[in-house]
Amino acid sequence: MSTQEKHFDVAVIGQGPAGMTASLYTARSGLSTASFERMGPGGQMTDTEQLDNYPGFADGVSAFELAFAMSGQAARFGAQTVGEEVVELQLDASPKKIVTASGAAYTADAVILAMGAEPRPLGVEREGELAGRGVSYCATCDGGFFRDKAVAVVGGGNTAVGDVLYLARICSEVHLIHRRDALRADAVYTEPLRELSNLTMHLDSVVDALHDEEGKLSGLTLRNVKTDEASEIDVAGMFVAVGTAPKNALLAGAGLELDRGGYVVSDETGKTNIPGVFVAGDLRTKPLRQVSTAVGDGANAAQSAFEFLSLS
Ligand SMILES: Cc1cc2nc3c(=O)[nH]c(=O)nc-3n(C[C@H](O)[C@H](O)[C@H](O)COP(=O)(O)OP(=O)(O)OC[C@H]3O[C@@H](n4cnc5c(N)ncnc54)[C@H](O)[C@@H]3O)c2cc1C
Repeated sequence: MSTQEKHFDVAVIGQGPAGMTASLYTARSGLSTASFERMGPGGQMTDTEQLDNYPGFADGVSAFELAFAMSGQAARFGAQTVGEEVVELQLDASPKKIVTASGAAYTADAVILAMGAEPRPLGVEREGELAGRGVSYCATCDGGFFRDKAVAVVGGGNTAVGDVLYLARICSEVHLIHRRDALRADAVYTEPLRELSNLTMHLDSVVDALHDEEGKLSGLTLRNVKTDEASEIDVAGMFVAVGTAPKNALLAGAGLELDRGGYVVSDETGKTNIPGVFVAGDLRTKPLRQVSTAVGDGANAAQSAFEFLSLS
């Protein structure tokens, strides 16, 4: 090993809730742990101010406070943060190799991948500016902030329709906007839509513009793609549900099994098709991408890594 390489039992890539929980568990079980993060701790959860659905906080919890508490807890048991982007991984080597943006090289006997995912943006002007000010990418997370208000959901798949079913119980009106003439969602999702009295469907329609009042979303201009006719709706929230993208660029050519969406194939043990490589959180195949499920994944992947290292 070159003098510049540092060796750890476990390398955890990403300090979102999945990675930080994995680091807590591996460090606490006595494994030397390097925890790589290119930004601050917290991952996507710091894209929202307050978490209202993470158990244990009756009044909700600041996402930043939770992120720093998780990171401090892992550090208390000895997890070492490497505050750099990982730019290269050699997962089939033994030990496995991790290279960061500065060119520093590390090795580890096991790697836990926790690079997360990101919602796909709609691509409409001012979307970034109004994100968190009415534009949201997570109905389960932010729906509660729009109680008794009118909202829109954009998309036509299972996630979009699931969001409509969820929001229709909380919000006064829900507008579903989909660019095609039929929804792509499965019948098990679309059939209950018929029961909703507060739903308005806008098929063959796209969002052309976002409007605000004092910096908060107040309405949308829609355009019918067949007739080119424009219309306006007043909404306080717009939930974008046009898919998520896993952060898997690092994994190109690594030999890891990915599903059609690019997520790392794994069950709740976090094991992948490469021995000694585990995955946790939003990056893996799973039905619900939330902080609570990421935390569970991190613990499971750490336990799998512990078992792998104990047996090898
Ligand atoms: C706007 C928004 C609001 C949300 N609100 C809620 C909510 O209220 N409640 C809830 O339960 N869930 C919420 N979620 C979902 C939740 O945040 C995610 O499910 C959760 O954060 C996933 O955790 P993770 O650890 O798998 O990945 P992430 O949180 O995505 O963390 C991955 C981390 O890996 C780092 N990383 C990636 N690549 C590299 C690399 N090459 N080198 C080094 N570091 C790297 C990233 O910088 C990031 O910090 C929200 C999501 C969004 C986008």
